[in-house]
Amino acid sequence: MLLKHAVVIGGGIAGLLHARVLADHAEQVTVIDRDQMPEQPEARAGVPQGAHIHYLMVRGLQLLDEWFPGLHDEIDQRSGAPRVQIGIQTRYMLYQTWQPSIDTGMHTYVLERPHLEDMVRRRLLTHDNVRLMDRTEAVDLVFEGEAVSGVVTRKRPSGGEPETILADLVVEASGRSSKAMNWLEKASYVRPQTHIIDANLGYATRWYAKPETVNLDWPILYVLTSPPAQTRGGAILEHRGGRWLVTVAGTNGDYPPTDQAGFLDFARSLPDPVIYESIRDAKPLTDIVSFRNTANRWHAYEKLDRVPQRLYITGDAACEVNPVYGQGMTKAALNARVLQQQLAAGLVDNRAFFREIASVNDNFWQAAAGGDLNYPGTTNNQTETPIQRVMRAYLTAVLRGTVRDERVAYAFHRVLNMIDPSTTLMTPGMLMRVLWAQRTS
Ligand SMILES: Cc1cc2nc3c(=O)[nH]c(=O)nc-3n(C[C@H](O)[C@H](O)[C@H](O)COP(=O)(O)OP(=O)(O)OC[C@H]3O[C@@H](n4cnc5c(N)ncnc54)[C@H](O)[C@@H]3O)c2cc1C
Repeated sequence: MLLKHAVVIGGGIAGLLHARVLADHAEQVTVIDRDQMPEQPEARAGVPQGAHIHYLMVRGLQLLDEWFPGLHDEIDQRSGAPRVQIGIQTRYMLYQTWQPSIDTGMHTYVLERPHLEDMVRRRLLTHDNVRLMDRTEAVDLVFEGEAVSGVVTRKRPSGGEPETILADLVVEASGRSSKAMNWLEKASYVRPQTHIIDANLGYATRWYAKPETVNLDWPILYVLTSPPAQTRGGAILEHRGGRWLVTVAGTNGDYPPTDQAGFLDFARSLPDPVIYESIRDAKPLTDIVSFRNTANRWHAYEKLDRVPQRLYITGDAACEVNPVYGQGMTKAALNARVLQQQLAAGLVDNRAFFREIASVNDNFWQAAAGGDLNYPGTTNNQTETPIQRVMRAYLTAVLRGTVRDERVAYAFHRVLNMIDPSTTLMTPGMLMRVLWAQRTS
């Protein structure tokens, strides 16, 4: 084995997937998480986003099935999660127009985030060399020369004396609340620069019982925000057990309220009444929960001149993208894919890892952070380059094109789901179609 002991901080999606990859290359893998892991799939404090809609991109689903053979079948046949043909059983409105119905040849499933995490965690823990220490919080790193050699932990909620877990590789996957930059700074390393693009988007979400009288043909229905003017959007996802997860979202500080009347009013204000009319008389199953920490944040570890070896910072701890674009779990999976490829090549070099995931994350960043810059109230703590501006304008034109031209919509969905490369949106033929769609829109 290449490694003796690898420690993964964080048992969220990124942590679980990196642990799965490490299980093939380390004698022992330890995942630590500050939460107590629930017996049943349920939202937990460390993953507050678990209460909100989580779209699983097709590429993410493929990678999960590769790492956990049989998971796809379990989701399909035993989880109860509705299977959705993307383009046929999904409905997207943007720029006040419904996208045409198209067969993209792809499918995904409507899964609650805690349910997906539960299935992945259970399968990970069938590996004899993987163990999970929950209620264990990472409070610092152990440094030895120019490398990290372990993690300092504390038990929760009791606290007590800190304990050290030694490791020859540490993956930091503690998500949006990552303390990695503080730990590095405390050990006299320079903090990476953080690029922040914030559209000040807020979610409000509620579970409903699907009314027997309403027959929506689409398990996934989105009325998308459409910049610059339309800052409001919403979605209904039909989950197992005849339940709807309904979200409304507002951009540039136009946050949706969390009281019943305000939530319904917000839904009514969307450019199409379908969400409002569907939930107006539906029975709520939960309170309304909100989420506002949605800024795009890129911590540029790949640009640091000096970074301790053997420390791999990944997932949302390295790069967060506005969740409304539904990308974070697949981004985490593709980060784990980088680690897998490097370890398979015998490469244990975190600088190479940071460089490679930066290139992966850039695809997600262009879509999310770039999209957010189309709203007039979005803040950006760095200057956009002319090339980025051109790319953003083109992506916006593609989006507009998806409601006018089936071929553009087809290509867009396949790129969005990370099945086809983004270059398929830039061929001369596609460019012509996109430009033509602007003329006719
Ligand atoms: C509202 C919302 C909606 C979203 N919708 C989608 C979607 O539709 N599709 C999609 O793909 N993605 C979506 N995302 C993004 C997705 O949730 C994240 O990108 C993804 O969970 C990132 O995984 P992660 O493992 O990096 O972080 P997380 O999943 O957040 O996991 C971090 C883990 O680290 C643990 N932890 C934190 N600090 C410590 C510590 N000091 N010690 C030990 N453990 C610690 C936490 O308990 C947690 O288990 C959404 C996010 C939000 C906020």
